[in-house]
Amino acid sequence: MGPPGAGKGTQAATLASLIGGAHISTGDIFRANVDQQTELGQAAQRYMDAGEYVPDEITNAMVKDRLTHDDAREAFILDGYPRTVDQVDTLDGILAELGSKLDGVISLVVDPEELIQRLLKRAETSGRADDTEEVIRHRQEVYTQETAPLLEAYGNRGVVIEVDGMGSADEVGQRIVDALPR
Ligand code: AMP
Repeated sequence: MGPPGAGKGTQAATLASLIGGAHISTGDIFRANVDQQTELGQAAQRYMDAGEYVPDEITNAMVKDRLTHDDAREAFILDGYPRTVDQVDTLDGILAELGSKLDGVISLVVDPEELIQRLLKRAETSGRADDTEEVIRHRQEVYTQETAPLLEAYGNRGVVIEVDGMGSADEVGQRIVDALPR
């Protein structure tokens, strides 16, 4: 977990290949569906373009389906999910059904101004419709209101692993590996 620009996508991909698990990024799945103009993509696009969350119903159904694929049987890294209280509840239910559990919640911590600078830089090359300054700032607000509180809930379960997300991707990646439970 972490606000937009914290480095979730980069770190999740590295970690998934390191542990040999599936990298499940809800943002990537939505973007692929938007590109392919699927029904799911059409339902999600206007929320994404505005920097709003896609409704829980849609997001939860998508993750539920994805977690039953073969590549997620042994291990998976969720990237960008859950983001709302309802998604936390749904994930608990899905994992209980699958007889699986969360080993940890990695929380990437980055200075707010650094987040904006990173995203503005990414905007130069990403081609993402939601990488405009106005939407970038809105996404930070949505994160603060809807998602940041989840860290407290997971904190109460004793599963949060806080990692300093400042510095290079390699430095942050090494901190994550060092912080993982053995
Ligand atoms: P991301 O690539 O994680 O920054 O996500 C890009 C956009 O996809 C977000 O701004 C949302 O519109 C949508 N999205 C991704 N994950 C979720 C989620 N768990 N719940 C709702 N919307 C999501």
